[in-house]
Amino acid sequence: MSCTSVNFSEEELERISARTLGMDEFDGAVFEKAVRGITVMENGDLEFHLTGGETKVWKNLHLDPPRHIATVTDCFQGKIRCAACGNTYHRVNGAGKWVYWYCIGKKRKNVECHNPNYTDYKLRQVSAHMMGLEEFDEAEFEKQIEEITAFPDGSLEFNFYGGRKERWQRA
Ligand SMILES: [Zn+2]
Repeated sequence: MSCTSVNFSEEELERISARTLGMDEFDGAVFEKAVRGITVMENGDLEFHLTGGETKVWKNLHLDPPRHIATVTDCFQGKIRCAACGNTYHRVNGAGKWVYWYCIGKKRKNVECHNPNYTDYKLRQVSAHMMGLEEFDEAEFEKQIEEITAFPDGSLEFNFYGGRKERWQRA
C-alpha cells in the first residue's frame, strides 16, 4: 500500500467487510473462509476477491467535501426528516465555509435532539449513490425521492416515490 492510499481503521474494515459479505456482525472465521484478498483501489474503493472467484466492490463515496467546494442544494429543503424528534432538517449557509444541514429540533425548546448534522456535499454524494447516479442531479432527486429519514446513528433511509425504501450506512 503506498502512502497516497486511503486509510481504514481495523474497525472500519470489519464493518465494511461485514456489510459487503452480508453478515450482521463481523465474523473472522467466515471472513477467512470467504475472502482471498482485498485490494484498495486508488479512488478508495475496496475490491473483495472471494474464494469462489467472485469480486465484490465496496464503493467509497468520498463524503468529505473537497477543499473550496461548497455545494448549496435547494431540493433537500423539507425532505429530510429526523427520526429522533420528527422535525425536518434546515440548511446553514456559512460564507466560504461548508454548507450543512441540521435538525431544527436542536433549536427548539422542549426538544432534546442530538441527531447528527450532514454537509450538503455528503447528502449529494449519498443521494447520487442511492439513485445509482455518478453525479448528483437535482431534477432526478425531485423525481425519485419523497423523503429521507435521518437516524441518530448517522444512517439515512431513502423513501422513493412508489414505496421503495433503502437504508444507507457508511459501514
Ligand atoms: Zn431531531
